This record gives sequence, C-alpha cells and structure tokens, in this order.
Amino acid sequence: MNMKRNTLQRQIILDTIKSLDMHPTTEELYLEIQKKHPVIGKSTIYRNLKQLAEDGAIKQIVMDMDGIVRYDKSSKPHNHFICDICGKIFDVDIDLDSSAIGIIESKSGLKTSRHAIEFFGVCSNCNVL
Ligand SMILES: [Zn+2]
Ligand SMILES: [Zn+2]
Repeated sequence: MNMKRNTLQRQIILDTIKSLDMHPTTEELYLEIQKKHPVIGKSTIYRNLKQLAEDGAIKQIVMDMDGIVRYDKSSKPHNHFICDICGKIFDVDIDLDSSAIGIIESKSGLKTSRHAIEFFGVCSNCNVL
C-alpha cells in the first residue's frame, strides 16, 4: 500500500468523524464509512483511528456507562452530557471553574493535570412529553 493511499484513507476517516454529530464507536464509524467507501476495511479503520488519536487529531474516550471506546472529533478538553434515554453523548463546552480545582487540590493535596465531567439527564430529543 503506498503512502498516498494511506493518507487518503486517513483523511476519509477523519472527515467522517468530523461530519458526524456524535461520538461514534469503531463499529458505528465502520458502518458510516462503508456507505461511501466500501473498500476501506475494518482493520484499516482501527489502525487509522489509533494513529489519529495518537497524533491528537481526535480523542479516544471510554465512557463509564459501558466501557466502550468511542471517538471524539474534538481533542480539546471538554465535558460530556449523556442522555439517560437514548444514550447519545453531547459536548458541553463549559469548563470547570479553576477555583473549584484549586479547592479540590488544597483539600486533598492532589495535583490535577486534567479533568473530565460527565453530566447525565434527558436530551432535548427525548424530552418531548
Ligand atoms: Zn436522548
Ligand atoms: Zn466530546
């Protein structure tokens, strides 16, 4: 396999993640990529996802709720909201107040290098009663 083809496949995988309004699992991504690019196999997708995550282009996340690996198109630190009903994961673009981190650190003596918060509830799609 030549370099050009590798780059092209990686770009297709990255573009697919960016185009989806979700945090797809490898399986979900594979099914999506299959629609347009049936020649790209699962092992190629696995390999490229790993590489993209290592390069920091995307982020690999594992949610407590099911332990399944998902991919996040945003590699910036951000928090997640998980719908109790449909299980969809939404990005929450608010950051924990740095003074709150300061309080946690001074109380516990622990040093924070990063943090991730998961919010749980019902999303607007499911909240139609
Ligand atoms: Zn929902
Ligand atoms: Zn996210």
